[in-house]
Formats: sequence, structure tokens, C-alpha cells
Amino acid sequence: MARMKGKHAVAAIAMALFLFCSCFPQILVSASSATSATFTIIVLPDTQGYVKWYPNIFDNQTQWIVNNKEALNIVFVTQLGDLVDQNENVTQWENANRSLSKLDGAVPWAVLPGNHDINNANFTNYDKYFSASRFKAESWYGGTYVENDNSNNYELFSAAGGNYLVLHLQNDPTDDVLWWAGNVIDQHPDRRVIISTHDYLMGFYRLGQRSEVGERIYHSLVKQHAAQVFLVLCGHSGAEDLMVDTVNGNTVYQVLSDFQSGNLQDGWLRIMEFQPEQNKIQVKTYSSVINEYKNGTQSEFTLDYDFASAVPEIPFPIPIAVLVVTAATLTLIATRNLRKPKLN
Ligand SMILES: [Zn+2]
Repeated sequence: MARMKGKHAVAAIAMALFLFCSCFPQILVSASSATSATFTIIVLPDTQGYVKWYPNIFDNQTQWIVNNKEALNIVFVTQLGDLVDQNENVTQWENANRSLSKLDGAVPWAVLPGNHDINNANFTNYDKYFSASRFKAESWYGGTYVENDNSNNYELFSAAGGNYLVLHLQNDPTDDVLWWAGNVIDQHPDRRVIISTHDYLMGFYRLGQRSEVGERIYHSLVKQHAAQVFLVLCGHSGAEDLMVDTVNGNTVYQVLSDFQSGNLQDGWLRIMEFQPEQNKIQVKTYSSVINEYKNGTQSEFTLDYDFASAVPEIPFPIPIAVLVVTAATLTLIATRNLRKPKLN
């Protein structure tokens, strides 16, 4: 009996040590991840007006991305939904597909369905033009919520010594989708996380506030994973806005850009330059069509971000190790009590 208990204890301690030690390399790698290199993410907010009236603008934007990939070290392109204006209009999907296809083989990119893309819960054309099978072979494509359904997807990339995870969540994601997204983050504890979604900030309705959908995403997903989620990107609301929250010392930037309410022919897009050595993310609004930057504090600003901080603060395996030790101890105590000879 005593020898069996000893074996259990040794096994439990060995398991705990293994799990505990396995998390330390992640801390060390994350803490030393920042390098002097800079890299760029391009944000393509709602494109519905371009594919409907000015398809050459969307073509121009994606061709500019390809042409400037090396110069700006563009590592990822994220589109924020409302690819099209009328989801039953095949011409609009063909236009969106032609423009975005320019990125194939040039730079990792991802999309998500906005409310206009799936009006009346009709996912047919989104599934047809931007299916999971289209991306599946890409090394950077992480996976989807539902198998072979690209409505909610994630991607992985590494740049300037850091590892990143980008989630693309459909318009008004269900609680189940948010639960899945949280699990994806938990499965990548050494990655800094960007969430792209459609409806999140109120925009021109009320600047500086999250929408009802945004509140749900923030409280169910973002806040719970604020040690990793540092950036939320959204569109939908016809404005530019920035909302900043701090959760347990972690800063979460929530950035709205949607230029469909202004002069469409300006063709604005967002350039986010990550500067790990300066601990800055420089945000600019640029038009490749008119070759101009958009002025104003809402269009050009700099975010402070500590690229050298460990991610996350408490690595995921530690709670598992604690759980294993606790469970093993409780089992030993329970077993010992059960095996005690009865006194009468
Ligand atoms: Zn929308």
C-alpha cells in the first residue's frame, strides 16, 4: 500500500515538473522576442461601395499592397467585412474576388463576413468565393470554427521575432463562436492576438463607445484574454475611432475604420506599422488611388505597445500543473482514508 502511494506521488510530482518546466521556454522566447525590424499590416475596411461602383479602386489598393510588400515589409492584410453591398449580386462578388486574388501567393490575407455579405442569413456567395478550401493549403491558415466554413477563421504569422495570431470573426458572432475563439487563443499561449471583426464600435452613432455586439465580444472574449489580445479592428459604422481599455495592466486598443460614408473615390486604407524597437504602432490612413495620406488625429496616430513583454503573463500550462498536483494530492488523501482499517 505504502509503496503504491509513493509511486503515485512520484508520478504526480514528475508530471507536475514536466508541465511546469515545459512552460518556461515560452516565457524566455516571448521576453526576448522584440527585434529592431519593423513590419506592416494593411487594414482593408468595408469595400462594398468599391465593388458596387468603383471596382478599379479595390484593384488599385490590392495591387499597391503587392507592389509595396517588400518596401513596407507587409506581413498580413485583413479585410473587415462588407466585402459586397448586395450579397445576391454576383458581379460584386466577382469584383471583390478579382481584387483580393491579387494578394494570392504574395502576402497572407483573410476576410470575414459583414452584415451585407450574409444578409438574410444567406452565406452562399461568401462560401462560394471565400471558402475555407481556398485558404486551406496556405501555411499561415490556422483553421475555422466549423470545418470547411470560413465565416470564422484564424491565421498565424511571425514577424520581427514575435509570434502573432489573427482571428477573423463574422458579423455578430454567436456565444459559441466567441467560446471557440477563446479556446484558439488558449491553444496559442505564446502569441500576441489581433481580432478582426465587423460591428464592434458605435462609430458615427456614438464615438468612443462599443456597439451592443461589441460589448458582447469585449466582455465574453477580449477582456478574458487581454493578456494576449492587444488590438481589435472593426468597420461597419462609417467613421474612424479609437477606444482604449486597460485590463489588469494590459492595454487593449480597439480601432474602427470605415470610409464608406465619405467620398468613396478617395479610396482610403489603413497602414499599421509595427515598430518593436520603439514599442510603437504607427497608424496611417492612405490612398493608393490619389497617393495621399489622410490628415487628422483620428486618421493618423501612434499606439504605445510593449513588444518586449512576456506573453501571456501567466502561461497556460501552469494552471494545468497546479491542477494535476492538486488532483493527485486529493486522490492520495482520499485513497489513504478509504484504506484505513476500521476501528470497530
Ligand atoms: Zn456593415
